[in-house]
Amino acid sequence: MKPDLFEAPDYYNLDELLTDEHKLVRDAAREWVKREVSPIIEEYAQKAEFPTQIINGLAEIGAFGPYIPMEYGGAGLDQISYGLIMQEIERGDSGIRSTASVQSSLVMYPIWKYGNEAQRQKYLPKLASGEWIGCFGLTEPDHGSNPSGMVTNFKDKGDHYLLNGAKMWISNAPFAQVAIVWAKDERGRIHGLIVERGMEGFTTPETHNKWSLRASATGELIFDNVKVPKENLLPNKSGLGAPLGCLDSARYGIAWGAIGAAMDCYDTALRYSKERIQFGKPIGQFQLQQKKLAEMITEITKAQLLTWRLGVLRNDGKASSAQISMAKRNNVDMAINIAREARQMLGGMGITGEYSIMRHSMNLESVITYEGTHDIHLLITGLDITGLNAFK
Ligand SMILES: Cc1cc2nc3c(=O)[nH]c(=O)nc-3n(C[C@H](O)[C@H](O)[C@H](O)COP(=O)(O)OP(=O)(O)OC[C@H]3O[C@@H](n4cnc5c(N)ncnc54)[C@H](O)[C@@H]3O)c2cc1C
Repeated sequence: MKPDLFEAPDYYNLDELLTDEHKLVRDAAREWVKREVSPIIEEYAQKAEFPTQIINGLAEIGAFGPYIPMEYGGAGLDQISYGLIMQEIERGDSGIRSTASVQSSLVMYPIWKYGNEAQRQKYLPKLASGEWIGCFGLTEPDHGSNPSGMVTNFKDKGDHYLLNGAKMWISNAPFAQVAIVWAKDERGRIHGLIVERGMEGFTTPETHNKWSLRASATGELIFDNVKVPKENLLPNKSGLGAPLGCLDSARYGIAWGAIGAAMDCYDTALRYSKERIQFGKPIGQFQLQQKKLAEMITEITKAQLLTWRLGVLRNDGKASSAQISMAKRNNVDMAINIAREARQMLGGMGITGEYSIMRHSMNLESVITYEGTHDIHLLITGLDITGLNAFK
């Protein structure tokens, strides 16, 4: 793979909207990605393996629980710093960002928000340091966009719960020590349970042959009469709103992350357009190539502004789920289109692992599907503006 010469585009001087802390956090993450991720990521994506050696580094740049209070081992940062970390990691690879997103927003967040103090003390410091990796089991083989139909369930057996069912498409599952599992009780109400590797009847077979997010491990969670201690139930929130609350936080991080992937594709294509000579000129001198680059930077800039504003709203506790949906949908769509155009600008070289673009392009096919598909987020916006529910 080519050396990482990334220079971040900032067409509207957005840096002026960031605090010194934001810039410090972002620059540390950016440098770390250049040093630790860029040199190895192509090889790991090619061999379809998560590079476990970077887990400590992810913890050190604050990628595990950026906004979780420091008393629990988190970085105690605000929402914009959280977003900037996700942007920088996904600039390196969406699969690595997926691991960080799951750990922070889908595992640490529910333990912090819906767990009791004993659960927070037991799990959060180990998750923040990367000693333990977690996963989040919501999707099932027959229930993806409609998780309320889930069939995974638990029964009260007096001194423990008995958990049965299966989850599918679970990021980090093959090596996670801890799983936040969403399951129905005997009355059909959804609860979160903390399931640990080693519990009898709990297995996590890996999903192979993915063409997307190859550097992220994906698997199933199978529960065959798993005895879960009663103290492992998250006590402070139940119902579908509980997992959806986690998804709000993760989708917000994805909105930033997608900008990172888009920036990397744009920056690579811009550099290539000045170096690649055809018909005696750099291809960047041709109007058709300039159109592509001009549209890319316009879309990136719009996404940066949208997402920065969303971060301010989240810092003030005012961002709605529908606003988060709009940003996730817009930014991933923006990134996937930029990846496609950028790949064409590199001609044949664009399909090789010499450059990051094809990997981003394939990764974004998962990002546009998970945490609510492109179409589902559109329906959320539709519901919000009309008050009419297309899901029913
Ligand atoms: C690599 C990867 C990692 C993932 N990681 C996780 C994870 O860690 N944890 C987890 O719980 N899940 C995870 N997922 C699952 C992901 O969230 C689901 O794939 C996603 O929610 C879509 O569900 P589905 O695949 O079952 O598609 P379906 O729900 O079957 O949808 C199929 C198509 O139908 C459309 N559709 C569905 N309903 C409607 C409707 N009402 N109106 C119009 N169109 C509709 C969808 O938009 C989509 O285009 C992951 C997925 C992938 C690919």
